[in-house]
Amino acid sequence: MNSLHSSHLQPNGYWVVNLFVLLCYCTGALTEYCDEFINDRGLPEDWPCDWNNGVIPYAFNFYSQSPKRLIGLVKKGHEHLEKLSCLKFKEYNPVTLANSPNVTYLYYTYSGVLENCCLDFYTNYIGRRLVLLTPMCTMGLEVAHVTLHGMGLWHRRLKAFSDAQAKAVLFPIDCNNIVDKVHGYEKGRIRIL
Ligand SMILES: [Zn+2]
Repeated sequence: MNSLHSSHLQPNGYWVVNLFVLLCYCTGALTEYCDEFINDRGLPEDWPCDWNNGVIPYAFNFYSQSPKRLIGLVKKGHEHLEKLSCLKFKEYNPVTLANSPNVTYLYYTYSGVLENCCLDFYTNYIGRRLVLLTPMCTMGLEVAHVTLHGMGLWHRRLKAFSDAQAKAVLFPIDCNNIVDKVHGYEKGRIRIL
């Protein structure tokens, strides 16, 4: 009886162990592939793997004052970026994202700080990245700038973003019209500060 049980259980046991080993192997391989992708493309160190398809999740703080203004400003910023890059911004319900701890997303809210629209501040590498819009943020270009800060771009005070890193972030994947878009970026027709 025992041998009958063991002969039936053993293969199942091996199957579970093999599946576990396979899952670990796949996870390790995916992480390695992601690290290579980030290094090869020259993306920021804190670039999350789930942005490799160029789709950036985001949500609004609907509890802020004047949420309509916030939404209008951010949409203008996203339109500016989508026009000049291969990025797409996808809005989610903030509660859904808050319950998805492994998803890295931009979370737009206001800051009361009276500085220009250039706060390179967020709290998390993984999960919710705060993008703070100061009262000085009024134009799509400015919101695009602070969005790129939220995506990990950085620059010296009163300097522009590094061209190479900005291009890596703006074009993490190929898309329609990529040649024209890169050309447009290089020619400076549409600039990011
Ligand atoms: Zn800045």
